[in-house]
Amino acid sequence: MKASNKITNTMAVNSHVQEGLHYDDLKIAKIMMVDDEPIMLDIVQALLEEGGYCNFIKVEHSSKAMMRLLNSKPDILLLDLDMPEVNGFDLLKAVRQQEDYQFLPVIILTASEEPGNKLKALEMGATDFLSKPVDPSELVLRIRNTLAAKAYQDQLAYYDNLTGLPNRKLFIDHLNRGIDMAKRDNKPLALLDVGLDRFRQINETLGLYTGDIILKLVAQRLTEVIRSYDVVGHADTMKQMESMARLGADEFSIVLCGVNSVENASSICKRVLDVIKMPFIVNGTEIFLTANIGISVYPHDGEEIESLIKHAGSAKDFAKNNGTDNYQYYSSDMNTRTRALLKMESDLRKAVKNEEFELYYQPKVNSDSGKVMGMECLLRWIHPDEGFISPDDFIHIAENMGLIVSIGEWVLKQACKQTREWVDAGHSELKLSVNVSPRQFADAGLKASIESALSYSGLDPKHLVLEITESMLMGNVDHFVSLLMDIKNLGVSFSLDDFGTGYSSLSYLKRFPIDELKIDRSFLTDVPASKDDNSIVRAIIAMAHSLGQKVVAEGVEHTEQLEFLRQHNCDIIQGYYFSKPLDSTGFLAYLSNDK
Ligand code: C2E
Ligand code: MG
Ligand code: MG
Repeated sequence: MKASNKITNTMAVNSHVQEGLHYDDLKIAKIMMVDDEPIMLDIVQALLEEGGYCNFIKVEHSSKAMMRLLNSKPDILLLDLDMPEVNGFDLLKAVRQQEDYQFLPVIILTASEEPGNKLKALEMGATDFLSKPVDPSELVLRIRNTLAAKAYQDQLAYYDNLTGLPNRKLFIDHLNRGIDMAKRDNKPLALLDVGLDRFRQINETLGLYTGDIILKLVAQRLTEVIRSYDVVGHADTMKQMESMARLGADEFSIVLCGVNSVENASSICKRVLDVIKMPFIVNGTEIFLTANIGISVYPHDGEEIESLIKHAGSAKDFAKNNGTDNYQYYSSDMNTRTRALLKMESDLRKAVKNEEFELYYQPKVNSDSGKVMGMECLLRWIHPDEGFISPDDFIHIAENMGLIVSIGEWVLKQACKQTREWVDAGHSELKLSVNVSPRQFADAGLKASIESALSYSGLDPKHLVLEITESMLMGNVDHFVSLLMDIKNLGVSFSLDDFGTGYSSLSYLKRFPIDELKIDRSFLTDVPASKDDNSIVRAIIAMAHSLGQKVVAEGVEHTEQLEFLRQHNCDIIQGYYFSKPLDSTGFLAYLSNDK
């Protein structure tokens, strides 16, 4: 265990990953000596220097000792008893009355022959007692052992056992120092609150042991990001390694001192999000994670530690409600927006009860024949006061609330029933695509709810396509492969939606039983004008075809886009070019015209 981390305020922490105790790490401890005889101070210093120590505070006038102690925050105090101004007992008593110094190691060094003194000093809280003249080896060893014991206690009290990062207590200490420095240097400080998404899901599916390994790896990756930031030289005096902490099960905090600009913190946030998105490999299994970060800046968002922490937390919650893999600066109107969000949450609950949802259908058209192959079912919320609310504005909230599970069940049931009617009416080849949220995949009841929608509607499973997104692949890949296989065995197929916007690992494309790939709209907007986008789209089509998957282009609005996609053998087109999403009456009319 790296027990020396807290040993001095100036010490750089080399690694937060717990290692063995190195006595050498203790050598930079700050040693304060109080003795009225200057020669004694010099002798003890010389002996300790020989033992490798280098950081001393020597005090000859005991009346000044308390002030020096409070200012210099030593790691250990060597105290004489017989002193003319304030004697050692009184000083010891005063030290012990200070909350922060109740447990500071104090070694009494005295020439006093008085037999009761030793006991009295120990009773008053002295850690050890040495008689002058001191034996040099004994002095060095006693100091080493006392410092080691203190370091071990500090490790337990100030560091997170699992990751070796500072815990909340030490973090508050660091943040306070950071704020002092920011005040002094007149430079802002940024506080980052990093929350992992759906970590509970990882613990539940893979077990706590694997969860622990991942948390350690996350801590390592964050440490590396912060370390490289330090090397780049953006950080000032405060060691960045000391400025990270683990505050909760899946919550980390980072203090960035001397941030020169808002962009500075933004670039760190992007790097943090990027390293968390890289797959974690535990026992040969790839595991995917994302995070959200809230940022508060001193002094702009608060001058006190409490308000900075609170505001970074609100910003993180805000980021989370806007999706995964985001960072967000605190802003004062966030409180208003948070209230609006709370209202939206309560309205959403009512919406489920009152069935305020409606389903729209957007045609998916064969690029060669122009025939409607099927339709994507898109959810609409008709709010009693606000009217139409876009799914982009409420799906994430429903996901965070867990409400998406029951909403999703309703969507599946209604859409399957509707499709059955259209199939029965003669549109026998129609394929219904339904969006399934990652949150639904985390729910054990998903397969049963698909089965129940199919049996309720009597729809043949071959008509049902489930649209999933790359972000679903969070967590354990093996687990999802078998979950998808299991559901696919019902006879339904899978489509990978918004392809290219998430963590596009080609390895999972091969492993997941995906029948269709939807190129995200963002790649198609500038096709065919943008050469880069043209190449990307061509590459995606070629890759999907080589894996035996059909390709859908989303968001096609213009003839030029359509021509390009046809030329490059894209199979299916969806977009305003053919039709906006339509209500069921509108869609049936569209189908009838298509015949
Ligand atoms: P998505 O699954 O990628 O759906 C495609 C979105 O693109 C739809 O937005 C559609 O209206 C829009 N769109 C289609 N063609 C065009 C076009 O040519 N131009 C433009 N600018 N947009 C086009 P919508 O309906 O607002 O849905 C947004 C997202 O909300 C969907 O993206 C999907 O992720 C989610 N969503 C919708 N319905 C459901 C649902 O029932 N369950 C779940 N879990 N998510 C849903
Ligand atoms: Mg979709
Ligand atoms: Mg899409």
